[in-house]
Amino acid sequence: MATINQKNQIWDEQGKIKPDAPKWAAYRKSMIGEFPSPFKMEDDPLAKNMMKFIKEIDDLRPEPGGPAYLGDNSALTYTYPNIKDKEFPQKSESLDQVIKDAVSLFDGMPNVASPLTMANVWPQPNVASIVASTLPLMYMPNIIEGEYAWNVHKAELESAGMLAGLFDWAPTKAGCIYTYGGSGCWLYGLKYALTRVLPDSRNKGIRVDGKVIVSAQSHYCRENATDWTGIGMDNIVLIPTDPMTNQMELGALEATLKEFHEKKIPVIEVVCTMGTTDASVFDPIARIRELMDKYPNPDGYGKALLYADAVAGWSWKVFEKYDFDANPMEFSDEIKNILKRNLSLIRGIHHADAVGIDFHKFGWSPYVSSCFLYRDAAEFETIMRRGNYAYLQEVTPYNPMYYTLEVSRSAAGSLAGWATMKYLGIEGLQSILGGILEVRYYMDSIINAAPEMANCDPDNSGFISLFRIYPKGMDGKNQFSKELNDPNHRSDLLKYNAFTQAIGEKLFNWYVSGKKVNDKFTPHMAYSTGFRNASYNEDGKDAEAVVYALKVYPMNVFVTPDVLDHVKDCILAARDEVEKELISY
Ligand SMILES: *Cc1c(COP(=O)(O)O)cnc(C)c1O
Repeated sequence: MATINQKNQIWDEQGKIKPDAPKWAAYRKSMIGEFPSPFKMEDDPLAKNMMKFIKEIDDLRPEPGGPAYLGDNSALTYTYPNIKDKEFPQKSESLDQVIKDAVSLFDGMPNVASPLTMANVWPQPNVASIVASTLPLMYMPNIIEGEYAWNVHKAELESAGMLAGLFDWAPTKAGCIYTYGGSGCWLYGLKYALTRVLPDSRNKGIRVDGKVIVSAQSHYCRENATDWTGIGMDNIVLIPTDPMTNQMELGALEATLKEFHEKKIPVIEVVCTMGTTDASVFDPIARIRELMDKYPNPDGYGKALLYADAVAGWSWKVFEKYDFDANPMEFSDEIKNILKRNLSLIRGIHHADAVGIDFHKFGWSPYVSSCFLYRDAAEFETIMRRGNYAYLQEVTPYNPMYYTLEVSRSAAGSLAGWATMKYLGIEGLQSILGGILEVRYYMDSIINAAPEMANCDPDNSGFISLFRIYPKGMDGKNQFSKELNDPNHRSDLLKYNAFTQAIGEKLFNWYVSGKKVNDKFTPHMAYSTGFRNASYNEDGKDAEAVVYALKVYPMNVFVTPDVLDHVKDCILAARDEVEKELISY
């Protein structure tokens, strides 16, 4: 290139590529018509293709009463690892074909919106969050720093204020970073803690076996974070949980803190899990803060951090100002009491130094919209700061690149979280949270009324029902109580674990194969292979003496009590078949 002569061979006076231009330019000519237009235009390829393919992907939705997956058939259409035997195509494929192929990947996928979907913490995102988080895909704000994010940064900054206010912190003193998941928040918490307690570790590396103290029921991403930071998984200290409440046992925590204090071993952080994924357990954070203050780190180390892993529990705080007497949402008395209980469990969260929040869990937003919120922005943003960046210039007041893990950051998560808070508001979240409980507790009343069923986690006041079903004619509640509490019934526990698993597998196969029970499709449920230990196996030394349970996690707003009646019919039918198969052995 470079000569004026060549320029004139390729482009005409209007800047259009000429018909006899070189091949690369001819290629570009056709491509330009398919890139989003820089200017206003009627027939913009992006808008046109979005409309067309949103329609195509919507065509995968079932008719009313259809199955819990998209498309007509939920069979997996690939084999592994053979699927990887694929070449980067030499020739370009048509835009239409590529997007059609992309749409086809959703064929058979579980449908997060289906009233029959109740397998896990898997909420359907709200429309405001979906649309808001699609916008950055077009215009590429990079929230690494201000110049490339401009006003889009308000989504993260206003989120910090709104969430800090929710947790009773001063909004303008707090800060937040949207990152790659609840596990990303966990990692941010640990890095903050390491930087505070062992400031030298930033340059010299971690040279001390500081401790990361968590409940035995905390999320396994504790391993990701301690492994990847290099502090090492062996420095995780698991505090046993109370067999009744499942909370971190305070006596054991105090003994541990005292021991480290006396031995002059620094504690890096204590993590309170504020809502475990399945059992919905909240650690007693206010009491834990008191104990941490009682046993400070030895001289020469910074103050241990208190991190709240609230990714699956943060939103109960929206009931803080709910008038439970006037009950403006008109929740039933039973659910009102459950809401009060959940609020009282999350209430001490202001004691934390930092909190992890997943909008893609209890915020009905798309992946990934996790927010790491810290109370003291002045501290966090100062001690975590790294030098200057020659590439980038500060042209706005907010430039988080100096203390984030990531370099480029998408604005999609921040827009999803921010849009959700604005769109739902406190009242919208109250209605969703309380409304799901109204439905989920109907499942509990089904379990309680069915003689062969037993509720395996009656104190769980989250969104999940965990239960077992026994062979016809058995007293399920009595049987389960013996298996849970009496070591003489260990063999029964194991036997009915296998029974539960067989039912769970059968239900899953029925869901995948589109089998109908009473003329209705089988829901997509799940089962747990050990969400809790037998009560005589508190320390978990006996790897088999754990409780398997069927699991119903009705997280979207389309699940109704009628659907749960059908769930019961499906469970009974699966149980009957498993029993028959066992007899025929
Ligand atoms: C889901 C979960 C995590 C991990 O969060 P991701 O968003 O999946 O990365 C961490 N802690 C708890 C309690 C969780 O429920």
